[in-house]
Amino acid sequence: MLQDQFDREADAMLQSEERHKNGTSKVTVSYSKYKMIPPHDLWDESEEEDDYLTQDDRKRDWDWYETQDKDMGEMPRCGYKQVDGKTITKHDSELSQRSNGRRIMEFPPGIDTGDGGGIEMKLSNQVYNKIRNFSIKEGKKKHKVHDKAEKSTSELAIDQATKIMLFKYVDRGILERISGIVSTGKEAVILHAEGGPGPEDTDEPMNIPHECAIKVFKTTLNEFKTRDKYIKDDYRFRDRFSKQNPRRVVHMWAEKEMHNLRKMAKHGIPVPEAILLKKHVLLMAFIGEDGTPAPKLKDALMGSADYELAYDQVINTMRKLYEECHLIHADLSEYNILWQDKQCWFIDVSQSVEPNHPNGLEFLMRDCQNISSYFNRVGVHDVKSPTELFTFITGLPLKEGPEDVGILSQIQNFIKHDQLTKNQDVQDKDVFNYCWDQAQSKSADSASRPIPGHPGKHRAANKSGKSPRSPKMSFSKSPSSWTSAKSPKSPSGKSFASMTDEELKDMKDSMLKDGNDGEEVEEEENRRKTKKETTVTFMPFGDNARDVEGMIDSIGYRSKEPALRDILTALTHYRGLQPKVEKFTFNDGIEKSLICLKGTIPVNYRGATYNIPVNFWILDTHPHHAPMCYVCPTSDMQIRISRHVDHTGKVYLPYLHEWKSPGSDLLGLIQICIIIFSEQPPVFAQPGGAPVNPPMDPGVALSRPSSNTITGEHIRASLMSAVEDKIKRALREEFTTKQAEMESLQRVQEELENRRKNLNSQMEMSNRVLEDIQVKLPHLNQLKSELDANREKIDESEGVETDDIIKVVYPLLLQLSSAYCEDAALDDSLYYLGRGLRDGVIDCETFLKAVRKLSREQFFKKVIVQKCSEKAKLGICDDLVANSY
Ligand code: ADP
Ligand code: MG
Repeated sequence: MLQDQFDREADAMLQSEERHKNGTSKVTVSYSKYKMIPPHDLWDESEEEDDYLTQDDRKRDWDWYETQDKDMGEMPRCGYKQVDGKTITKHDSELSQRSNGRRIMEFPPGIDTGDGGGIEMKLSNQVYNKIRNFSIKEGKKKHKVHDKAEKSTSELAIDQATKIMLFKYVDRGILERISGIVSTGKEAVILHAEGGPGPEDTDEPMNIPHECAIKVFKTTLNEFKTRDKYIKDDYRFRDRFSKQNPRRVVHMWAEKEMHNLRKMAKHGIPVPEAILLKKHVLLMAFIGEDGTPAPKLKDALMGSADYELAYDQVINTMRKLYEECHLIHADLSEYNILWQDKQCWFIDVSQSVEPNHPNGLEFLMRDCQNISSYFNRVGVHDVKSPTELFTFITGLPLKEGPEDVGILSQIQNFIKHDQLTKNQDVQDKDVFNYCWDQAQSKSADSASRPIPGHPGKHRAANKSGKSPRSPKMSFSKSPSSWTSAKSPKSPSGKSFASMTDEELKDMKDSMLKDGNDGEEVEEEENRRKTKKETTVTFMPFGDNARDVEGMIDSIGYRSKEPALRDILTALTHYRGLQPKVEKFTFNDGIEKSLICLKGTIPVNYRGATYNIPVNFWILDTHPHHAPMCYVCPTSDMQIRISRHVDHTGKVYLPYLHEWKSPGSDLLGLIQICIIIFSEQPPVFAQPGGAPVNPPMDPGVALSRPSSNTITGEHIRASLMSAVEDKIKRALREEFTTKQAEMESLQRVQEELENRRKNLNSQMEMSNRVLEDIQVKLPHLNQLKSELDANREKIDESEGVETDDIIKVVYPLLLQLSSAYCEDAALDDSLYYLGRGLRDGVIDCETFLKAVRKLSREQFFKKVIVQKCSEKAKLGICDDLVANSY
């Protein structure tokens, strides 16, 4: 907004000069080339704009309610007080209407109540109650409605308003279509889109690239909307939504990215061309092809020659960025460089800062470390060490060597060095930065500092302080006047435009911070001021730096510089911790001297802050290996064993478990400990222990620290851990369900497999039988036809002699058959003899004589049958012979 306002005024001036010069002359000169704002740079502001943008900021006061409350003072217990000679009771209508106005600001973000900044919102009880009831109803409805699409887009941080904005892009012809999501990060979502012909209602073509990337910065408010379910029951987060205007800050970040991109492009740094900015949505050229983004350096498939080329490009671009563009990327690594057509493209520049930023050189050093370490890893030859690269870029000599590990201190010294702070009247060439600095100098009473290093290099130009492209700008209107006219205000009442990058970042973090307490706001303000002063005037780590450096040297830490930095950062933030060298005994009995950060960390539990005694043991391989963390209860405390703390007090956290460098650090660890302990304190009062004063929660028996130290970082960490927990739980559930499903599917599969085997073997058998049948079938058919023929023959012949039916040819068989027949005939004869006797035809004597004779004969016949059968190997007459005996 600031830059926009500036550019517009510069352009307006150019236009008037152009008109003046051309007058009524027929041949006219166009100044359009020198104009700051391309014709279609920003969205048509007149079309629709946030109310708050059109308001005069002088009238706006984000902390209006706090200011009012302060002015009024608290209502005493008796329920009335004297104001300006008048008695005001707690039922005073103005008071209660105002309090309704304030209460309405505390409604959840889904309920549109306006931001309350700059207007005296007073609401009658009737109106307040109506809105409250609606809010309750809406809340219930929201819990019921779970439209999938809505959920998915909200998870991707594209809220309804953003979607509408994107649709408008398409509607106006700026984009042809939005094809999909390229990446979703913590702070932004990147979409791919096809560029359109541009709006029809303009004269000049917009020349939108064929492929565009849309960077949608997540608005914290929106993040809260999707996350309120995690925090609504947490006392620390109550009443946090309504006081601030976090969207405003996010817009500033988007704006910053656009300006950084523009500035870099102007100096020939390969970055995506910034096309259009609207609120928190930045449209830029797409680096890649057909919707596929160019790979990050980390993922690109490159040969060794490519790596060498990329390294040269990266370090020279870093130098150019610093020297010519006066910027430090501040988040440069293989993740934020894309590799396309043998060219490195720098992206993600919203956090880029100027070298004279209080931490600018530290950021640069970090960039150097990332770059050197990456190119070393991929095997590029002659990679400069981080310090060499730093010197290559800045020209500032950094000493490197075993006895000289205080690089951080050296960098700090550069910043405070006289040489760097003289010539303070030198102005930055960039209009935006110039204004930024001016605004800063007006409000914070500090002049902008020139870029450190390369002495004299940037100081020749613009002694007059004029901006080269808008020469009259700085005189036409004082920065402070346009700042107050347009720039929004921070919650503390300070102009956003007058805030440094660091303050902006602070501000972004503290959006989450409780802003209820007016004193706290003041405290915060004071803290900021002190911080600002201290960074310029003294070494931030003070004596600690020397002590810790000495300890690190004496023990022989392997990565001295990173370990020192990490420890000092933790100590600066948590002053309850002190570095000590002590002996640590490992499980295998080995003792080792290590640095131990001993002391207490402040933990907020049920609204009060307690000091929890802890020891952080820093291994000599720090920061490559996680430190060991112990809770050390005093005599009147006892350890509360939980899944995070065992009986010895050892702390177990996923953060420790998943520790990796770079990425994990002591500060993060301490913050996570604080969050975890605030949910479940790791110690409790010893039963019968020392009396506790004041009376305490039975859960804790700790002393209160002097100040509340929960910061935006803690809240962010808490949110992250809540989200992490939620995701883990969901994943675990999903995993268990899927595992059960898999097991049952496996069982089914096994059963099916068995049945398949069964079926196969049966099939095989059937096939064999079939084959057999097929083999035998012709023979059987033949036999059948023979049989049929014989049957026919038999049917045809009449009066067949039974003796003719069987004709025996072989003598043996002939003998057999005749003996067999005779035997049968003798059987018959015996039978009829029996009947004759019974019927009285023959007498008994005759019968016996005849039977005796015939039986003897039959015996011989049977023997013949048996013998013949044996000889002929028939075995058919065994029964026959046996029967006759
Ligand atoms: P974050 O803040 O989430 O890291 P980045 O700006 O780094 O956001 O973008 C995230 C990812 O989106 C990048 O790693 C890259 O793959 C892709 N991306 C971002 N900008 C572009 C672009 N202009 N063209 C192609 N891809 C991009
Ligand atoms: Mg990135």
